[in-house]
Amino acid sequence: MSSRKRHKTAVNLDSLPDDLLLSILSKLSTTATSAADFVSVLITCKRLNSLGLHSLVLSKASPKTFSLKAKNWSDSAHRFLKLCADAGNIEACYTLGMIRFYCLRNKGSGASLMAKAAINSHAPALYSLAVIQFNGSGGTKNDKDLRAGVALCARAAFLGHIDALRELGHCLQDGYGVKQNVTEGRRFLVQANARELAAVLSNGNNKPPWLTWNLNPATNPHPRIESFTGSGCPLLSDYGCNVPAPETHPASQFMSEWFSVRGASPGPGMRLCSHSGCGRPETRKHEFRRCSVCGAVNYCSRACQALDWKFRHKAECAPVERWLDEEGEDVAGEDDGEGMAMVDS
Ligand SMILES: [Zn+2]
Ligand SMILES: [Zn+2]
Repeated sequence: MSSRKRHKTAVNLDSLPDDLLLSILSKLSTTATSAADFVSVLITCKRLNSLGLHSLVLSKASPKTFSLKAKNWSDSAHRFLKLCADAGNIEACYTLGMIRFYCLRNKGSGASLMAKAAINSHAPALYSLAVIQFNGSGGTKNDKDLRAGVALCARAAFLGHIDALRELGHCLQDGYGVKQNVTEGRRFLVQANARELAAVLSNGNNKPPWLTWNLNPATNPHPRIESFTGSGCPLLSDYGCNVPAPETHPASQFMSEWFSVRGASPGPGMRLCSHSGCGRPETRKHEFRRCSVCGAVNYCSRACQALDWKFRHKAECAPVERWLDEEGEDVAGEDDGEGMAMVDS
């Protein structure tokens, strides 16, 4: 927009009373597709700047407003997120909570921001707090609270959170933090798959090249369907069709970028979750469990392991008898969690 045109818009807005302008800005902020959308309003003029930072407007800012790039992280980005969180924006609470907990290593304030979102039934926050409980993140391995993890996971799963459904399914199947119930576990895993498919279908992709049917030509009664091919991943192998990787939450995206600009390391001896869509780092050495077959990959959760197995790791996992760390020490069995068997469901 040219400066002349911007000036003209500002003049027209001058004739509007504050409350009307506020309600327009609130509406606009619910549909912001990026932080830039928001900033472009704030820099228009002084009046829009002060009204745009009104708590009513900030509390309604859309989740996409917080899709920040890690390389653009700054004090003012931090202040903006904090203002939105203080205004009661739940998405901002979660995003800033994750950034503080994992990237800025401010465990206390990060966890309390996530808790604020969780109390308001923010499913990703409930699930993230579950992962923290399962791993004792930010503390020692004695801080692991599997029962609390399962309880948080169940609340997120009840809200339809796919990773939580998958995690809960695996906990039930393995009897991890909860009484073993294989049938019930299976039911949650099927539900996770069904929701995943529903999420992909509702993304409004009218021409789904990703939806491919793995039909055996020998038994395929509809030979024409054989011409459907695509590059999807066999995530929904249970249903015989392929879907692309699920959309990554902006907070996870931010964390992946944050650690990749720092050489993909969250600190000396600490590892990132090997599932690319996760972004969670270890908060102490050997926090995450590794693949018990190859020992080359590490995961924050069963849900991440199951997803990465289907998308990537299945094709590259090879059994290794023992493995050595950089100092040449045998580290087999050193993880503080019990060995995590490969999952495939
Ligand atoms: Zn993970
Ligand atoms: Zn492996």
